[in-house]
Amino acid sequence: MKSPSLLKLIAALILCTVFLIPTKTHALTIKDVRFGHYPDKTRLVIDLDEDAKFRTFVIGDPYRMVIDLPSFAWKTATVKDQQASGITAVRHGNLKPGISRIVFDLNRPISIHSAFTLPASQGKPPRLVIDFANTNTAGFAMAQNDIRGTLDINKGTELSAAPPPRTPSTKPQLTDKKPLVIIDPGHGGVDPGAIGPNGIHEKNVVLALGLELKKQLEESGQYRVKMTRYDDTFIQLSNRVKYARKHNGDLFVSIHADSLRDNKVSGASFYTLSEKASDAQAAKLAARENKADLIAGIELEVEDEAVMDILIDLARRNTQNQSKYFANILIGKFKGNKLKLLRSANRHANFAVLKAPDIPSVLVETGFMSNVEEATKLNSPAHRQRIAGSLKKGIDAYFKTVKENERS
Ligand SMILES: [Zn+2]
Repeated sequence: MKSPSLLKLIAALILCTVFLIPTKTHALTIKDVRFGHYPDKTRLVIDLDEDAKFRTFVIGDPYRMVIDLPSFAWKTATVKDQQASGITAVRHGNLKPGISRIVFDLNRPISIHSAFTLPASQGKPPRLVIDFANTNTAGFAMAQNDIRGTLDINKGTELSAAPPPRTPSTKPQLTDKKPLVIIDPGHGGVDPGAIGPNGIHEKNVVLALGLELKKQLEESGQYRVKMTRYDDTFIQLSNRVKYARKHNGDLFVSIHADSLRDNKVSGASFYTLSEKASDAQAAKLAARENKADLIAGIELEVEDEAVMDILIDLARRNTQNQSKYFANILIGKFKGNKLKLLRSANRHANFAVLKAPDIPSVLVETGFMSNVEEATKLNSPAHRQRIAGSLKKGIDAYFKTVKENERS
């Protein structure tokens, strides 16, 4: 029999081990973020737990200051004294594998005067220091082209250029391979998407739903499945489309959860691409969803008009019909599963993420994060299983028709 003192010793050992196991899962930890004010400048100081490379720059429309660092864990509760520094909001999160980003929204133009790191000294941790000051529009224009720091964020993580468009065909052709469904969970990383009650973030809910749909599709043995993101990483909108095309996806399903000021509104809705929006609300939604790159501190890309040649346009028109057909099927399956729908659930607008000219694409707003009841439901695995089940039924029905058309 073990003596009480031995038990105590064992308990103490276990406790020690628990505390000795490194709890850090990230290489870098941000421990404090604060601003200091001087007559000629504002100084931003970020406390780190080890030396790190960084890069920082400003961008406009709206004014933002961006800081990229190796993947970090954010261990500071508040950003001190941000208001007086012209900062209206702070976001942070993964930008791409190995790289995290902090975005400060600014209410005025600034220029960065210097940016440097300080090693640990005199009891202070390693620090990243950025000195900046207010400037005018001309000063900002100059400051905008100036990237400080030496962190290379493109090392081996960049997606290759978009593949050439496939030859348009009058009906979708399936090869002998199982159809490839591309699931696109919205937002991620530095872009949380809609924020619901109790800190429920759209980016987490839609990722969990995407993974559930992937599981259900794969278990059926009927499909190949790829996802534009598998974790909490930010993916640029155009790269989601490029990813789907690079892999020759047969169907693209973008998953989101909406937010409205009117918190009574609830229900799912289904969107396809169109130059003109079906109504003002759909147009506003598309504008919100298209802002993802902006939120992540990325300059909006100018669309490449060269790809808009007539062949692609023809292909797109056919793709559009298939997308609409798929959206209609999904609405039927949601109804059949007694999932709540918005009154006019079938809508269209100009969504950047639905622009693959050759892949039928639908964006599903699975419900409203602004509605407490619905956000809570979306946060539960059981409800997500039901939604994923309805999406799967829709995907089954869609490909059944595609196969029938091929035979005829
Ligand atoms: Zn969204």
